Amino acid sequence: MRTEEVTLPGFKHDLYATGHPLFLISKAYSELGADLRARGLEYLNTDLPTVVLLPDGTSGILARDLKTSTAEFDRLSPGDGQALADLMGEFGKYAHKVFPLFSLDLASKEAQVLIGELMRSGKGDFVPFAAEFMQTARDVLNDRFRSPVAKALIAPWVPHLGRTLDSVSSGFDVSLLLSALMAGGMPVPRGGSDMLVKALARIVTDHGGAIRCDAPVDRILVERGRAVGVRVMEGDTYATGRAVIASVNADQLYLKLLADAEVPRSLVQQAKLYRYGLGCVQIQLALSKPPDWPDDRLRAGQPHLLRSMEACALAIAQAKNGDLPSEPTLSVDVPTQHDPSRAPRGMAIMRVQVLQLPCRPRGDAAGEIDVGDGTWTEDLKNRFADRIVNLLGRYLANVPGAILGRHVISPEDLARYNPNSGPGDPFGGSLELAQSYLLRPLPGQPSHRTAVPNVFLVGAGTWPGNGVNGGSGYIVAHQLLTPAA
Ligand SMILES: Cc1cc2nc3c(=O)[nH]c(=O)nc-3n(C[C@H](O)[C@H](O)[C@H](O)COP(=O)(O)OP(=O)(O)OC[C@H]3O[C@@H](n4cnc5c(N)ncnc54)[C@H](O)[C@@H]3O)c2cc1C
Repeated sequence: MRTEEVTLPGFKHDLYATGHPLFLISKAYSELGADLRARGLEYLNTDLPTVVLLPDGTSGILARDLKTSTAEFDRLSPGDGQALADLMGEFGKYAHKVFPLFSLDLASKEAQVLIGELMRSGKGDFVPFAAEFMQTARDVLNDRFRSPVAKALIAPWVPHLGRTLDSVSSGFDVSLLLSALMAGGMPVPRGGSDMLVKALARIVTDHGGAIRCDAPVDRILVERGRAVGVRVMEGDTYATGRAVIASVNADQLYLKLLADAEVPRSLVQQAKLYRYGLGCVQIQLALSKPPDWPDDRLRAGQPHLLRSMEACALAIAQAKNGDLPSEPTLSVDVPTQHDPSRAPRGMAIMRVQVLQLPCRPRGDAAGEIDVGDGTWTEDLKNRFADRIVNLLGRYLANVPGAILGRHVISPEDLARYNPNSGPGDPFGGSLELAQSYLLRPLPGQPSHRTAVPNVFLVGAGTWPGNGVNGGSGYIVAHQLLTPAA
């Protein structure tokens, strides 16, 4: 999370995360919310977390309120409203066991009981949930809905969880995403995403803590099997009080930070195989006027602009083949619709996010851009951004002409800025089933507890994965606060 005037003075852009629905519905926020609000955090929310706009101007909305959503789905295709209500109703039967898992270490007894109850009947056989958990998003959307607009409304959310529409278990993500969007809306902090960072930092300093930035840690110092301190690149060391909590991925932990410590060889081998997902390009636009939505309902949280669910799947397949997609799905936010303070009067900011792109492209599916050796040079980045802006103009005709300034982040920029991105993955490591849930961060470490008893891992590379969700920090905080930790 970082808010900066990267285009022009007075335009406050979130360089990375913008919307915080997962945090708003988290246990962390329910416990810390009052302290954060007292330190300046204020969420601005909307009743319409997401909408979809197709190139021919057709649109569809998802509201926080189920009744409004089912009416909209019925408008799109009679019967789809009931299909949505059924899907949510079926998930509702499991939700009381699923949602507590997001604030539990999955290796804990409590979580194991819940997982066992979700998957097994008690007589030794599996229950339907076990099969539903494995479904793909494409199958769920095709089985449940008839309207191509309803499918295009839901499908582009799946890549926000790091999955493709054909990933094993992405069908389960459909129910999770719909529940999270309906419960959380699409909240953005007034003033920008970094208001959350600032408020969290103030909680630390108000309690006597100190924060040092721009100081990469290169070793966790271990003596007699316990961490005794950390050393930063310039050589300064900091002694450990009780624990080291590292917001890094397992590869950095075992291959670098604990390189001098004795840890099981199997974990080092698994850390070498830690896998990253596809990359992302994010474009920040400073606009002389707000986008002209064809329908006022589209002034919503986070709209997607795409042709169809199939076009979304095709763009991802092109990227998986190593090509820049010819017509990627666009995820857009216009934070000034909720918070006019983030641009000069009458003007606007827009974020355009393109997920699931090759970190090192080998070609261009449209045959137009020479990708050279695959390095995201300034030229490649800008040519791809031009494609995105042209595409944007097909949906929002007034936007290209209103652009006063533009800032583009490529997978390579992400990799440079944050070692947790690997080669440019915005989500801290592949979120395919093979590296999720009890297999995250590593098969041999299904937990935030590491091979060194007082070193803990948090962040997107651990359960519950990517997104501003506060989940792993909450889990580790509770482990440290229980006397047995
Ligand atoms: C472009 C983009 C857009 C996104 N949009 C959204 C969104 O709208 N909503 C949403 O919920 N999520 C979004 N995400 C995902 C979300 O931002 C991440 O999943 C989330 O921030 C991960 O948080 P984290 O706690 O794992 O830490 P990170 O954000 O990865 O932060 C870890 C920090 O530790 C630092 N670090 C790593 N190694 C070391 C070291 N050795 N020494 C010192 N420091 C180190 C890193 O530089 C980094 O600053 C987006 C991500 C990107 C990249």
